[in-house]
Amino acid sequence: MPARLIDGEALAARIRAELATQIAAIKQRTGSPPKLASILVGDNPGAKVYTRSQARSCEDAGIAYQLVELPNETTAEALAARIRQLGADPSVHGILLQMPLPPAINARDMAELIPPQKDVEGITSANLGKLLFYEGAELIPCTAAAAYELIKFAGCTIKGAECVVVGHSPIVGKPVVCLITNDLGTCTCCHIGTRDLKAHTTKAEILVVAAGKAGLVRGEHIMPGATVIDVGINRAAVLDADGKPVLDEKGKKKMKTVGDVDFASAVGVAGAITPVPGGVGPVTVAMLLRNTVRAAKAQVG
Ligand code: NAD
Repeated sequence: MPARLIDGEALAARIRAELATQIAAIKQRTGSPPKLASILVGDNPGAKVYTRSQARSCEDAGIAYQLVELPNETTAEALAARIRQLGADPSVHGILLQMPLPPAINARDMAELIPPQKDVEGITSANLGKLLFYEGAELIPCTAAAAYELIKFAGCTIKGAECVVVGHSPIVGKPVVCLITNDLGTCTCCHIGTRDLKAHTTKAEILVVAAGKAGLVRGEHIMPGATVIDVGINRAAVLDADGKPVLDEKGKKKMKTVGDVDFASAVGVAGAITPVPGGVGPVTVAMLLRNTVRAAKAQVG
């Protein structure tokens, strides 16, 4: 029997509906909606696309969105000053620093300038530390929070479950490990240094894959009946029945978005699986909105 699809769009819609009431309450109490400021340095096309979709998501949710665009030549000092200014502005409840930053600017130094109460991506040491200590962690990195919410939405009991997370980045893999461990799941973290990935993944009742490698996890890596959360977003060529790339009308390879899990082979083995697109992506956006609302609530009382 093919795996049940874990519908990220449905979960995101449910979260947005819950947020709508809270956003309306904030607006009624303070006269204005929660506000998210997004800082974009330079003209990275991918980041620009991302800011447009952020703006749309905020607008749909009734959250005010301010895009702060700075030129490519912006110095670390100028960016730091802008972050501090937004940090001190009481009308701004959330600050998001769009990546990548120009190579001359240290991204971690800049992220640490965001006041923790406005850190809606949950990437400051203060917020990551709260997650580790399990003390009132409210602003959790959005993608990690999305993976965790999808595990619960799929109906899994984390306590006592054998869980494997593939990927140990500070904003995805490691926070997922923390969230699972905080709920008393038994969690193994695999990464580029893992000698035998399959030996671990085939033991997982809950498998989260966040490696950024298309097709890294195939059906044979999965325990029958496991719940699989595919965080990866990769671009891959569309292939025809003979395995050759399909070309578009301009003779260029047709591309599609795929995850880190080879869906075709995984769907026959897993018990439940997130699709890509339509799984973690929409819930990540909902988590950004949720963090903005949480930040606003904490600031306006
Ligand atoms: P990253 O590059 O910072 O980390 C990748 C991790 O994968 C590392 O821990 C690395 O050790 C591990 N890894 C790489 N190759 C491996 C291999 N062969 N075997 C085992 N582990 C391996 O990436 P990230 O920022 O954590 O993102 C991971 C993926 O999630 C990317 O595809 C990214 O595009 C995607 N992502 C999706 C969303 C979303 O909303 N769905 C948001 C953020 C990131």
